[in-house]
Amino acid sequence: MTTMRTHSSLIDLDEDAPTSAQVDFLPGPVLLLGAPGVGKGTQAQLLMDAFGIPQISTGDLLRHHVREGTDLGRSAKLLMDQGQLVPDDLVNGMVADRLAAADVAQGYILDGFPRTEAQASWLDGALPGLQHSLPLIAVRIQVPHEALRRRITGRRSCPLCRRIYNLYTHPPQTSGICDVDQTPLTHRSDDTVEAFTERMAEYETKTAPVIEHYRLQGRFREIDGAGSLPEVEGRIITSLRDLRSAGSADVSKEARSWPS
Ligand code: AMP
Repeated sequence: MTTMRTHSSLIDLDEDAPTSAQVDFLPGPVLLLGAPGVGKGTQAQLLMDAFGIPQISTGDLLRHHVREGTDLGRSAKLLMDQGQLVPDDLVNGMVADRLAAADVAQGYILDGFPRTEAQASWLDGALPGLQHSLPLIAVRIQVPHEALRRRITGRRSCPLCRRIYNLYTHPPQTSGICDVDQTPLTHRSDDTVEAFTERMAEYETKTAPVIEHYRLQGRFREIDGAGSLPEVEGRIITSLRDLRSAGSADVSKEARSWPS
């Protein structure tokens, strides 16, 4: 199967960057791992366009609950604002609901989940009961700490068109205003220096062991997150292709319902 990238995502790309890329495989269930600010969300959106499979971002799902004022949103808001993790049972339940939706049948890109060993163990147990049988493949994106701080604390976004800017690397033409629709830009409440410090501490203590969990499972690659968006995307796609072809012998036995 061949999928053409459409670039319908809401991310500004360098004008000189390639505008289309051919991908000739489906990656199935994918996990993007890495510290806050490495670009998991941005790359997940590009991969979603490239492969036509959904991004499942637990941060986005939780922010949706906060906006809607659900019980889950009310429980999560303060923890999120402080850069702390939301309890595993709440997040696992939310992910279980999302993975039951029909649009994940050909695969999906998990972004921001699992973030603890308990979440990873829960996912290992849940996956065999889900609607497809390809094993999860994991790619870790790595970026130096100082670059992460600038990416996070400089991040601004347009609440209307969702375009993402950065005060240091990709500022809007007029300070604080979206280039496209002139809407005032917003700053995520957990993108402050204080919350960044707390999020990095949570990452080091709770999420770093999750990386080892997937490294030990074997279907795992690490890539350098420095460079242009298309360069990083290319590294991820190469890793996904390698991981899937390395597992293809097992997969052909397992994936009876996988589309050809
Ligand atoms: P993100 O947009 O992925 O950076 O997530 C924003 C915030 O949502 C995090 O700092 C946590 O408070 C919360 N969050 C997102 N995903 C998870 C998760 N898998 N487990 C616990 N909390 C999460």
